[in-house]
Amino acid sequence: MTTSDRPRNLRTGLEDVLPLSPLQEGLLFHAHYDGHERDVYTVQLGIDLTGPLDAGRLQAAVHGLLRRHPQLRAGFRMTASGKSVQFIPRQADPAWQESDLTALEPADRDAELDRIAERERRGGFDLARPPLIRLTLVRLEQELHRLILTNHHILMDGWSGPLVLRELLALYEHGADSAVLPRATPYRAFLTWLARQDRRVSLEAWRQALDGLDEPTRVAPAGGPDDVAAPAEQIALDVPDDLSEALRRQARAHGTTISTVLQAAWAMLLSKLTGREDVAFGSTVSVRPPEIPGVESMIGLFINTIPVRVRLRAQETLVSLLTRVRDEQTALMDHQYLGLADIQSLVGIGELFDTSVVYENYPVDRETLGTAVRGVRVTGAEGRDATHYALGLIAASYGDRLELRLEHRPDLFDRAAADTVLARYRRILEAFAASPELPSGRVDALGDAERRMLLETFNDTGQGATDATVVGILQEQADRTPDRTAVVFAGAAVSFAEFNAETNRLAHHLLAQHISAEDVVALALPRSTQALAALFAVLKTGAAYLPLDPDDPADRVATLLDDARPVLVLTTRERAATLPRTAVPTITLNDPAVMRDLAQRPATNPVDADRACPLLPEHMAYVHYTSGSTGKPKGVAVPHRGLASLFASHLAQVYVPATEALGTECVRVAHTAAMSSDALWPPLLWMLAGHELHLVEDVVRRDAEALVGYVTGHGIDVVDVTPSYGRLLLAQDLLNDAAETGGTTPAAVMVGGEAVPPSLWEQLRASAPLSHNFYGPTETTVDSVVASVNDSEQPVIGRPVGDTRVYVLDGGLRPVPVGTPGELFIAGSGVARGYVGRPDLTAERFVADPFGGRGGRMYRTGDVVRWRADGNLEFLGRADDQVKIRGYRIEPGEIESAVCRIGDLAQAAVIVHEDEATGAPRLAAYVVPRPGQRTDVHALRRAAAAELPSHMVPTAMVVLDVLPLSVNGKVDRAALP
Ligand code: AMP
Ligand code: MG
Repeated sequence: MTTSDRPRNLRTGLEDVLPLSPLQEGLLFHAHYDGHERDVYTVQLGIDLTGPLDAGRLQAAVHGLLRRHPQLRAGFRMTASGKSVQFIPRQADPAWQESDLTALEPADRDAELDRIAERERRGGFDLARPPLIRLTLVRLEQELHRLILTNHHILMDGWSGPLVLRELLALYEHGADSAVLPRATPYRAFLTWLARQDRRVSLEAWRQALDGLDEPTRVAPAGGPDDVAAPAEQIALDVPDDLSEALRRQARAHGTTISTVLQAAWAMLLSKLTGREDVAFGSTVSVRPPEIPGVESMIGLFINTIPVRVRLRAQETLVSLLTRVRDEQTALMDHQYLGLADIQSLVGIGELFDTSVVYENYPVDRETLGTAVRGVRVTGAEGRDATHYALGLIAASYGDRLELRLEHRPDLFDRAAADTVLARYRRILEAFAASPELPSGRVDALGDAERRMLLETFNDTGQGATDATVVGILQEQADRTPDRTAVVFAGAAVSFAEFNAETNRLAHHLLAQHISAEDVVALALPRSTQALAALFAVLKTGAAYLPLDPDDPADRVATLLDDARPVLVLTTRERAATLPRTAVPTITLNDPAVMRDLAQRPATNPVDADRACPLLPEHMAYVHYTSGSTGKPKGVAVPHRGLASLFASHLAQVYVPATEALGTECVRVAHTAAMSSDALWPPLLWMLAGHELHLVEDVVRRDAEALVGYVTGHGIDVVDVTPSYGRLLLAQDLLNDAAETGGTTPAAVMVGGEAVPPSLWEQLRASAPLSHNFYGPTETTVDSVVASVNDSEQPVIGRPVGDTRVYVLDGGLRPVPVGTPGELFIAGSGVARGYVGRPDLTAERFVADPFGGRGGRMYRTGDVVRWRADGNLEFLGRADDQVKIRGYRIEPGEIESAVCRIGDLAQAAVIVHEDEATGAPRLAAYVVPRPGQRTDVHALRRAAAAELPSHMVPTAMVVLDVLPLSVNGKVDRAALP
């Protein structure tokens, strides 16, 4: 180092200039970066001294201590070249103050003592002005003093505290003569040791240990307050003797330590709090290499915070988790000295954690401090470390007793939240103590009351199972209100009686063709009232309908026909021309012969006697296809029960309240969804409740401006759309005062099918408070969870619909607590039968419901959600790659395999990106040709458009030589251009 690098004022009195240890580097960096106001790294030790104390002698002992330990005199600075150094002045006498509080009343005295300690702590240190240590001696009683030693953490760690105390006492006893103490090993020895370590080997060890860790483990919201507003607070966990004894016994029996048990349990707690199975937290270790003579009594900063990464496996027993954590830690023992910043940069995802575990294994225990020195005894010692983590576990053993404290940042976890966390931690520890052979996924961190709330209270929909069917519901409505308008299409209104009669005539026609329960009838019909009537006609025979989208390419239609194996296709002459060749019998509804036959059929409701077998709620009502990740679309088979149950639920929760609020018997509802998705149903259910359904023509429904014109011009009360389309409609003034144009604005915009952005939510709350958000996968009958925009200020998906139970579960299928992300599972009457002809896929997604007690099944949605304390669910995103584009559900995997097949490619990756101009989501395909081949993306795109539905055709296609791979060998989607 050059002379100019040295602080000018200290040039003469400098004893040494040294590099920094990694943790010192970190602290110096923080001090520079954060400024000097913060006191997070100020450490304080309070020592109670009882007896006739000689203050001058004590101050001399402190001076003696600093003379013995150059480290305690160190100052720190960055050189002009950006290098950090610590410099050791030959002499540095710490500030020393004395206060006498003996005249105060005890209560005032204690308050004043706290104030002094606080002042000392908040005083801060300028790292460039040593010594970074100051003392205040407070006289509390005639023979009782408190010595408050405040220092910057960069000088020494908590492990050094007891050593400082021991030496101070010895120096006090012997008049600051350090000859009585063994020679102190200087901190420099540790720095030399550090310099000799092979960083390359250590970095590689850490790289392997953290390989594949793809997300930080944060218990506080990311982007939340990062500065430490208030000092951390602590709560103690009462660890009963039998628990600490049992934990110790288990640790011993399995060749591990109590510290490993605490870490494994902390990992499980984190997993329960974050919903992640691969977690990391900080662990404070004391790096005191045994090769350094006298290392155990060195004073200085030897601790380091290193990541502990734990991959939890639900099937693994607690014992094997323990031994695995132990082995993984042992492998890293020699590499614990590496700085956290260096370790974290290996992973490249920023800070890896926001919690930490410290096991204080201080070298001196409390008892030895009771000895008297010249009549003065230490009667109390309490340290105060600071933390900047959201949560920290501080553990210490005193003899057989285990002390656990949870440190929490009050700005992130209030007292109640911290109590809950600690209670969960305790339950996990109890599992380690009581049932070490339990698979870790089966450990329940929930209390009984919490569990009841999640599984029962939140799922109490107040609705039981129904034996109704939509067939019966339509017929009863037609009986009740025969003359009321049921459907309006292209300006033509049809009454309930007419609509029902039309469905009946066609149903009788189909029954005459021996169509019956469990048959599938494909509907290849243009959008029309007749198409709706055909749908109900199929249902009335007891068979299930399969909608074929008029916009799908013939190849796609052929795939569906092949897969669903319908017994019949209902179509029109015009539509028939676009259908693929098929061996399936066809009925052309506008064929004159068919029309003549229909006209002669009875208009009366078919009864069970007309059917080959009675119509039962278990019978399949429809097959709707949805994207399949394995390259083929999959057909979801849904029975009647789910539809009728959903009707009962919506009627009570949505339709009746809306009807009352609007003060009308007959609400006008616009149908804007395609007939090929199950979003077809919500408006139909309104109609079944006696309301007027406006089946909006294709040219109108697809044009936001035209649709808004229709809605405001026809006095429509309720519009049902995807959130993306809802935004477009609002941008076209759907909810702005339409009085000037003589129109009306709708009272409700029902949204669903994809996440509702907060801005849309706010607009709906403000301008259409009857609006609702509907959530539901095709596999659980249209809608499973519903929220009124009035229920919450932020978007929520809400609560389960009638006779439906929802569970938010972790990887081991255990309920996660309120606030923790988990996967949503849905049980109840809406659960579909499964995927047509795919028992494998069905078994994978429809699993036994362990909570229902009725031997039922639940559907695993792949959606990540969390409970709010009020019983509303929040939607957070997907656990897999599935995406939604304009409400269409898309598996990129299906497009990838289709594109690979069509273009004879080596590889393809499909991702969603935002259109630069509009912000709308778009599909992009990255394609890799086979070696030696070329790919024409324009031709490929055309070929893909001929096979895939338009929403699945990538907007952009890019040829790459190779796909970027992540460390674990999967396509790194984030790295695609
Ligand atoms: P689908 O089977 O087409 O109805 O798609 C179901 C999927 O769409 C769900 O699993 C969710 O990922 C998403 N989804 C449906 N409705 C909503 C909603 N209201 N909010 C957020 N996501 C939704
Ligand atoms: Mg849906």
